[in-house]
Amino acid sequence: MSAAEPKPDPEMDRSMALGSALADERSGRVVFLSHCLLNENTRYPGGAFRSGAVTEVVEPFLRDGVGLCQMPCPEEIAWGGVGKRHLVRFWGRPRAARLARFGLPTFLAYTRWRYRLAARRVAGSIADYHANGMQVVGVVGVGASPSCGVATTMDVAAALDPVAGCPFDRLDRRIVNDAITAAARPGSGLFMQQLDRALARRALSVPLFEHDLRSEWPGANLSPGAHPATLDVGRVDARPADAMVAVARQALRGRFDPAQTEALIDATTRAIPSLESRVPSGLNWGGRHLLEQGVFVIALHQALRAHGLPEHDATALISDVVFDANRSAHAWLHRIAVVRSRNPWSRLRWQSRLLCRLYYRSPGWELHEVAVPAGFGLDVTRCAVADYFRTLGLGTLCEQTICAQDERVAQIYGEPVGIRFARKGTIAGGADRCDFRYRPATIGPMEG
Ligand code: SF4
Repeated sequence: MSAAEPKPDPEMDRSMALGSALADERSGRVVFLSHCLLNENTRYPGGAFRSGAVTEVVEPFLRDGVGLCQMPCPEEIAWGGVGKRHLVRFWGRPRAARLARFGLPTFLAYTRWRYRLAARRVAGSIADYHANGMQVVGVVGVGASPSCGVATTMDVAAALDPVAGCPFDRLDRRIVNDAITAAARPGSGLFMQQLDRALARRALSVPLFEHDLRSEWPGANLSPGAHPATLDVGRVDARPADAMVAVARQALRGRFDPAQTEALIDATTRAIPSLESRVPSGLNWGGRHLLEQGVFVIALHQALRAHGLPEHDATALISDVVFDANRSAHAWLHRIAVVRSRNPWSRLRWQSRLLCRLYYRSPGWELHEVAVPAGFGLDVTRCAVADYFRTLGLGTLCEQTICAQDERVAQIYGEPVGIRFARKGTIAGGADRCDFRYRPATIGPMEG
């Protein structure tokens, strides 16, 4: 037997033999359907145009004797249940819309992580059907869904603006669905991307189909039903987190005319795939989110420098973009910390430990707290973001745009309550550690 041939599996052979001996009416063919194609009750509010299943999708498979496997609704899993309350809470709240936009990169990073786990379970189930000699005739996704789109997705940030920005008493179904039409884009949804990866890890290939949810709308000129579709991962992967683009666009508009701004955004997004290919694997979702920001920083820096912006101006602008992109996350964290404790040092410790649990985790990060008289200290001895920048010879850019955020955040939240931040070196800058030292402002600088 050659090494390439699979090992015999006596249990599987026995189960196949049993299947032949006890042959029954099953067709041995199944299709995996996005959840809402069988149950529109999980659609976003205003988005269900069928009382239950989408018959145009389901009936042809039923007629052909194909078994229907319902995939989980990923948005139900990651976005706060059937009501998708984590997203819907921003609708009709213009003042919250801006906050939502700034928090979007973190929200999408979390979404990808939850989707990856769900996609692996679906891929495992598909593999099981294959292993049992059955045919998976396809996976049917939902076009214009940011999660289940195969060839058509939706730009979440672009859809959020009009829906969140519309005053609550004027919000209606038409506004929500118009926003989705305007935000539909070529590309695949986040869940379908993860499913594609999970299937590839198992060396499985399954035909893909897409039913466009916009085809259900009265007067739509799209035809409903499962149409063959090709996953457009490359196009979506070429897009960084939408909110990062939105923040950068806003900052660029303050300095460049609209055409130059769009050209810079275009150059930035086009540079991202090759930079992403050098990002280390094996990080948790928080670590990947930080690396995603790092990739965006480098891509934007390349675009600005190629445009002729002086180095100092480019790094200052990028530092502002990074700060704005994370502003709401810092603000929320601070608010929660204030509710937890009135002692600023307890708050600092709690925030620092929470961030370490969420973002700065092994294997990308190594850190430990150090004793600082009357204060708080943390030594970071390994940082995946700094390593990534240094690999590309861009340690200084990392220091000036990403490490610099620590000082900015400390000025806003620490100084008003008498906490002073100081640091002697960073890994990005070539030091053996990043020494975070927080001391009472009244004591003054001391050796750490
Ligand atoms: S398209 Fe996907 S995420 Fe959206 S409701 Fe349907 S199953 Fe859920």
